[in-house]
Amino acid sequence: MHPPSLPDRSIEAYATVTGTDRLERLRELAEILSDVRILHVNSTASGGGVAELLRSIVPVCNDLDVDTDWLVMDADDDFFEVTKAVHNGLQGDSEPLTDEMKATYREVTVANATEIDGEYDLVLAHDPQPLGMLERLEERLPDAPIVWRCHVDLTDPVAEYLAFVSEYTDPIDHAIVSRSAYAAIDAPETSIVYPSIDPVTAKNRSLDRTELAAERDHLDPLLFDAPVVSQVSRFDPWKDQFGTLEAYRAAKSAVPDLQLALAGGMAGDDPEGLELYEQVADEAVDDPNVHVLTDLPDMTINALQRLSDVVVQKSLREGFGLVVSEALWKRTPVVGSTVGGIPLQVEDGRNGYLVDPDDAVGAGDRIVDLLEDDERRRSFGDNAREHVREQFLLPRQLVDLLEIFVDALE
Ligand code: UDP
Repeated sequence: MHPPSLPDRSIEAYATVTGTDRLERLRELAEILSDVRILHVNSTASGGGVAELLRSIVPVCNDLDVDTDWLVMDADDDFFEVTKAVHNGLQGDSEPLTDEMKATYREVTVANATEIDGEYDLVLAHDPQPLGMLERLEERLPDAPIVWRCHVDLTDPVAEYLAFVSEYTDPIDHAIVSRSAYAAIDAPETSIVYPSIDPVTAKNRSLDRTELAAERDHLDPLLFDAPVVSQVSRFDPWKDQFGTLEAYRAAKSAVPDLQLALAGGMAGDDPEGLELYEQVADEAVDDPNVHVLTDLPDMTINALQRLSDVVVQKSLREGFGLVVSEALWKRTPVVGSTVGGIPLQVEDGRNGYLVDPDDAVGAGDRIVDLLEDDERRRSFGDNAREHVREQFLLPRQLVDLLEIFVDALE
């Protein structure tokens, strides 16, 4: 296990974007938790939504004087091949789950659990990767409640995979999921907590004119004086970059100078990424208006989401989809599919449009509807900003989490 390096954060920074009531409630809860020590465990320090959340939650909790550590599992590709299969199986894709895979999972999770030697009052494990650690952690920290937060889309899990993870869920005292439809794991208590974006980071803060101009240059050869749609996602089959390409092609017949940016990265715990990236880049190679961009810095992602006319999120499964709130916060309307957490964020006809996950042509039509109506894009953008301010900024999520911690420790 290793601690990732973390940025400094101050709770004061959120006063300009969130109501004082929420910050006061947060301070009250932090006061109750002032003498507890909390440990977060997950499997990657970068790439993907969980790392993104923890990079904000952990330093802000410490700034609030809630003593919080974050440890990342040590594991190699063999383990991540297994956990990616588990992730896919829980989202409905059945690949074989062999005894050898189960043994690898057990061995690596137990080895990581034995490395934890600190004293903690509460442990919060994220996603299926660390589940195998929980039995050992329960033995070593018998008084610490164990909370498991599942970020994956559990609407239609393959029974074999659900049964596999359920072998490890007994120690859980409290489960957290992102939507009620995901409450597939038996736990004494289950709460729903929506994830959130952090409005003060390089990814989401406002950019001044000079910064935006510099980032625009970094995004060359994209031209922002012609229409641009973009999708920002790990290269992962569930994110359906091929469907987005199809939607773009459908829209292009009405908007011939349309450009598409597919920005993506590979998460440290996702061995499938590179192969999919190559397939997507191959598919796009003949169209000079399609740009496949990798490993963009956060401020460049910020500019891309801000400068795009429309953002697309055509996922086939989606635990929550932070990228949707990231775009909406920047007043960019989103055309998203009706899966997972996307409909929590996209209000159809108010801040974007929802389409069936298999309706790429319908997505293309909605992109055109937005591109052809500047006024609609502007008013959707205003609605989008307020929807995210109310529901999907960090302080709201922290209130929800700290309330659960107080409850679990009672
Ligand atoms: N992300 C990024 N660069 C990329 C692709 C994704 O920084 O090239 C970030 C994205 O901005 C978001 C997170 O990774 O903050 C993805 O979270 P989301 O919940 O959308 O999806 P997940 O990857 O967790 O399935």
